[in-house]
Amino acid sequence: MEIFNYSDLSKVDIQKLVQRNVDPANEIRALVEDVIENVKQHGDSALLDYATKFDKVELEKLFLNKEELTKIASAVLPEQQEALQIAYANIYKFHKAQLKPEDKVETMPGVTCWRELRAIEKVGLYIPGGTAVLPSTFLMLGIPARIAGCDEIVVCSPPQKNGKVNAFIAYVALMLNIDKVYLVGGSQAVAAMAYGTETITKVDKIFGPGNQFVTKAKTIIQSTTTTAIDMPAGPSEVLVIADRTAKPAYVAADLLAQAEHGIDSQSVLVCTSESIAQATLAEVDKQLAVLPRAEIARQALDNSYIIITNNLDEAMDFSNHYAPEHLILATDSWQKITGSIKNAGSVFLGNLTPESAGDYASGTNHTLPTSSYARAYSGVSVDSFVKKITFQHLTAEGIENIGPSVEILADMEGLHAHRNAVSVRMAKPQN
Ligand code: NAD
Repeated sequence: MEIFNYSDLSKVDIQKLVQRNVDPANEIRALVEDVIENVKQHGDSALLDYATKFDKVELEKLFLNKEELTKIASAVLPEQQEALQIAYANIYKFHKAQLKPEDKVETMPGVTCWRELRAIEKVGLYIPGGTAVLPSTFLMLGIPARIAGCDEIVVCSPPQKNGKVNAFIAYVALMLNIDKVYLVGGSQAVAAMAYGTETITKVDKIFGPGNQFVTKAKTIIQSTTTTAIDMPAGPSEVLVIADRTAKPAYVAADLLAQAEHGIDSQSVLVCTSESIAQATLAEVDKQLAVLPRAEIARQALDNSYIIITNNLDEAMDFSNHYAPEHLILATDSWQKITGSIKNAGSVFLGNLTPESAGDYASGTNHTLPTSSYARAYSGVSVDSFVKKITFQHLTAEGIENIGPSVEILADMEGLHAHRNAVSVRMAKPQN
């Protein structure tokens, strides 16, 4: 990991450092556009071809039904079932609390306005399964979808080498009462859910993280179809802010936890002294030596760096520029700096709060904006699965109270029919 001194960096240097997952030559875009067009034209047969091409598996059919899922799920051990159930319960509890009815507001006597939630009817969940299979993502998307009350939940996940999903994905499908999982991965899954195929329903909104192909496909279909997306949730990243109260072994473990996701993941350490940086790097080497996914993590770390700042305020300044998906405050002084966080997907406070807790089981959602999209996007929540529809009701008193102002405003815009729609309802229209 390269080390930089914050005070030596120009604005342009900082801009370069915070930029990630760009596709300057549009190579990924071109490939993904081709996949989308092919799926649009050829539907299921294109999906079967891509399973052979990208996932290296010949599929006989594109989905697993409930009976097949039940058989696959039977391999999950009791202690694994218990861990999944604890995660389910915590995620459910945290997300259920997000569903709060809003108050009705009387803006003038007789004029009442309010908002009501309605679930998005058809949603598509993408569960990554390339380099690692992520049943945790299935919980993170499926639970808020169920709480919101979506009518139809389409689930796509890449087929494994045996042409199935793994036992944990099957088990979570049953927990969520989902009786079909489509064996489709990558940008082809996004295209299938956006356009629909012979077997896959076109959905209203697509959710879920994925690699650069998945993320690019989501950003393309968002602007070219009527299907919405949750957010661009691409290759994972963490930024750890550490001061002398941090524990190098913990910081190193957190950096590696992110790096093992994929070679395109990024782990950034922003610390207040060179000695913290060196102690952490020594720990990284030690822990890397025994990591099963060391090769992936090593490549991700080559794409990562360390910034030395003079104090925590400067560290937070850099973090706000970076807008990390995950922000860890590895300092006993975290309470003093949380107020200055401007951009982050999810924040982990103090030395005893690893990102892994939130990745799996504490309750918060792990589907989060990456690549600096945390500047404007929030992570997935129950809100992501609902629309908030506004309602209003005017009484006779209400139309008399608001009518004159609306008539004048409509005149100001030269829209006579607008004025008239109010005037005809008033006992005494204004001139
Ligand atoms: P994935 O499911 O996203 O992608 C696998 C699919 O990519 C394959 O099925 C294949 O169809 C397609 N693919 C592979 N190589 C291709 C190629 N050369 N051309 C076209 N398509 C190709 O699984 P993954 O690759 O393991 O990536 C998962 C990603 O999700 C990681 O980058 C991880 O960091 C990220 N992630 C992000 C979050 C978040 O909230 N932002 C959460 C979890 C995981």
